[in-house]
Amino acid sequence: MVKQKVAAAPSVRRLPAYLHLVRQAQREGLQYISGTFIAQELSLEPIQVRKDLSITRIMGKPKKGYAVASLIGAIEHFLGWDRTRQAVLVGAGNLGTALLGYQELQRQGLHVVAAFDVNPEKIGSRIHQVPVFSVATLEQEIPAWGVKTALLTVPSQAAQEITEILIRVGIEGIWNFTKAKLRVPDTLVVQKEDLSSGYALFCVMMQNRQPEASPPS
Ligand code: NAD
Repeated sequence: MVKQKVAAAPSVRRLPAYLHLVRQAQREGLQYISGTFIAQELSLEPIQVRKDLSITRIMGKPKKGYAVASLIGAIEHFLGWDRTRQAVLVGAGNLGTALLGYQELQRQGLHVVAAFDVNPEKIGSRIHQVPVFSVATLEQEIPAWGVKTALLTVPSQAAQEITEILIRVGIEGIWNFTKAKLRVPDTLVVQKEDLSSGYALFCVMMQNRQPEASPPS
């Protein structure tokens, strides 16, 4: 079996930024948007933008660019954001709570139907309207919801143990926010998320920043 990979991952990562810009153009009443304009706004090369957008199978019109409504539809459809993806979240702590309250994910089709935690003070409560269950009931609850996606926001030490339960109950994809490198079957999709890698890049850019030339005295 082959590990799940996305051939055009860098292009896919740029699609949300395109979508944001094109939606803004739609709000401003534009009918068409050019690849060159998108490139300028996002500090990219026009050829890169055209290549990225081609993965959605959208075609631009010479001299006019892309029809805004079609482009929004094509990106959303390619990403699957025009459908609802039900999910559960395990670990309703600081990060879990922030994710449950992040409305943008709902607009992108992600609907968290239940959260799970070990903390008795959280079990039985609702966080941003999402019911919190005991993690001990994962094996009963998940098949009942019929959910195939899980967001993992437990402490890293608990990640593998929870993952093994998630595998047993038929979860097919884990969005892993922990630091743990999960051992999973090749058929299971795992996307690991880490704010620290963005912050590392930020720190290096700050370190390499050229100081502004001081004004002549
Ligand atoms: P937190 O302590 O606020 O939350 C963890 C939650 O998990 C708590 O509610 C706790 O009761 C619960 N929990 C503990 N063991 C559990 C288990 N076995 N089953 C179910 N729930 C359990 O921590 P946090 O700041 O929200 O961080 C959570 C995870 O996210 C950590 O692994 C952390 O490293 C990671 N994190 C990642 C990023 C990122 O950029 N990817 C950013 C912040 C935090």
